[in-house]
Amino acid sequence: MNNNPNISFNANGSVYSDNFDDIYFDTESGYLQSEQVFIKGNNIKEKLLNTKGTLTIGETGFGTGLNFILTLKLYLSMLDLLSEAKLHYISTEKFPLTGEQIKQSLAIFPSLSDKVDLLIEQYPQSFSQNHQVELLDGRITLTLIFKDTTEALKRLKTGKQGYVDAWFLDGFSPARNPDMWQAPLFEQIARLSKPQASISTFTVAGHVRRKLIDVGFRLLKKTYLGQKKEVLTGVYQQGNNLGKSYQIRPKISKPEFVTIIGGGIASACAAYMLAQQGVKVTLLCKDDTIAQGASSNKIGALFPLLHQQKDDISLFYQSAFEYAVIFYQQLIDQGYHFSHDWCGLLEVSYKESLVKRQQQFSQHKAWPTSLIHSVDQDKASSIANLPLAYGGLFMPRAGWIAPAELVQQIFKAASSTNNLRIKNNIEVTSLTQLENKKWQINTNQGAISARIVVLTGGAEAIPLNVNSTLPLTSVRGQISAMHANEHTSKLSTVICHKGYLTPKNKGVHCIGATFDKDTFSTEAVIADDEYNLNMLNKCLPDLVNWQLSDVASSKARLRCMTPDHIPVVGAMPDISAHKVSYAHLAKDKNWRFNTPAPSIDNLYTLTGLGARGLCTAPLLAEILTADLCGYPYPVDTQMLFNLAPNRFIIRDIIKRQVSVDN
Ligand code: SAM
Repeated sequence: MNNNPNISFNANGSVYSDNFDDIYFDTESGYLQSEQVFIKGNNIKEKLLNTKGTLTIGETGFGTGLNFILTLKLYLSMLDLLSEAKLHYISTEKFPLTGEQIKQSLAIFPSLSDKVDLLIEQYPQSFSQNHQVELLDGRITLTLIFKDTTEALKRLKTGKQGYVDAWFLDGFSPARNPDMWQAPLFEQIARLSKPQASISTFTVAGHVRRKLIDVGFRLLKKTYLGQKKEVLTGVYQQGNNLGKSYQIRPKISKPEFVTIIGGGIASACAAYMLAQQGVKVTLLCKDDTIAQGASSNKIGALFPLLHQQKDDISLFYQSAFEYAVIFYQQLIDQGYHFSHDWCGLLEVSYKESLVKRQQQFSQHKAWPTSLIHSVDQDKASSIANLPLAYGGLFMPRAGWIAPAELVQQIFKAASSTNNLRIKNNIEVTSLTQLENKKWQINTNQGAISARIVVLTGGAEAIPLNVNSTLPLTSVRGQISAMHANEHTSKLSTVICHKGYLTPKNKGVHCIGATFDKDTFSTEAVIADDEYNLNMLNKCLPDLVNWQLSDVASSKARLRCMTPDHIPVVGAMPDISAHKVSYAHLAKDKNWRFNTPAPSIDNLYTLTGLGARGLCTAPLLAEILTADLCGYPYPVDTQMLFNLAPNRFIIRDIIKRQVSVDN
């Protein structure tokens, strides 16, 4: 085949390749499909808005330049919003069209003619060399490489951090143009991709998906409103060149069935998200109704844990909070009701060190004021609607939720998919892996067989044999529900001091909480109510005048904690195999190798949510769903590792706190 594109035009004026017996673009709904597949599929608008320097797009097959023109159209429509973002569009083309042919091909879209003219003015007359074009005073650079795509990409240089932010994987269909869609192309795409680079293509062919997965993309099929065809989108998150191999999570094929052990907020979110994706979920719950553990509290605060600086912990809790707020609001919008109030949360600076902290928050300005900001005593009092002796830090979008009601509603929403079956009164005693890698779940009601098991049982699941390798601890917390009175009823925000005090729901406020390590007792005791009252009276004297006699009820539950206060989600690590595979890390923590993290087949965990499950469970469940279904992760590779169950053993090996098998 020479490099002549051999095009012809269909009756409706759309351009056709006689060489490949394929269309250049779908014209069924104008240029909508190209726009949806490539521009929306890669979230180019959001990417441009978030770009400080240059956003680089890579395309395979420039053809008529339609995708470039559509990108240019978007950029022009956003000019006022884009003070900084430049665009570099790199495209390859083995069979270039002439400027005249491009003009003729895009004539069916008269609304694009001004942009087409802009391109044609600078489009080359001959194709012997690469061509670089500057548009809009250099804000947009178009690099055209007239070569076979794979050969062209091979010549592009990249640094450690990659080069391309988004890929438009075009080219004729894999069936008509098999030569282009080979493994070396995908290797080049991976080599040039920045972490979190996106990709989209109109083909959902199995071998294309597998090749993308092999080089490190996580994929999701999408169908856009009004479109029949599915679009394949992906994010580059698990490539070998992205980081350390122990950060690479195991890949599995999306399962048909998953068994979740639990019954609280973590299992509710996991069940909901998996069921939404068509996975048939069986939930094994030890109680006769769900939400009897830590999620049974009457009122729980929803807010992120934020430090002055954007450290790993704060960044995780910020992401989780943003995700949770949207998730819960969507449930409400869908008609699921649970008591809640997004009334904000005030962290009062009741001691000198907290006043300093408040000042530092104001100075560092690490977080947007819409997330957290400093308020003085007057403002704090007006927010609380009660006279406060201190100012503090206010989180306007935080609030409270009735956790048990929430959990019930999430399970109800999950059940509406017909993909959830809840089995109550099943107390799991241990798990045994069978030779075929399936699990035998041993319970008070006999053995249950499962292929994929997810452990979400919180502190109560710590004693399970399969949890023995994770450094989880149980922390008992007692919360006291206090009768509201005329004075306390005025409270209109959640207050955090050393403990917390919530506005009333159904006639009671909640105050808490005690913190007792390594105990599994859930019996409420008067001494703990006394502790909660004393803590409140000490931090906020004279705010409320409750006595022990005002306690309406009290509840002690267990929280599951991790040593670094970040939860755990992912495949259960094979600790012995880690000690062998990663032994060399004890000598050189930067040692690089290509062994993905060894894990125990078909066993996943979502745990360690501490007292913050309301904030973290939705995001963690989304990560678990991405793990199981192969979808893109909602967080980057570093945050993913900060949440990974194998982070503890890797850190121990690096710090030589564990003996390895050299
Ligand atoms: N993005 C194009 C547009 O907006 O018009 C549509 C592209 S058309 C479906 C596919 C393009 O890929 C054609 O222009 C074709 O010549 C080009 N192509 C096919 N195989 C190629 C290869 N191996 N290397 C470079 N370009 C190739």
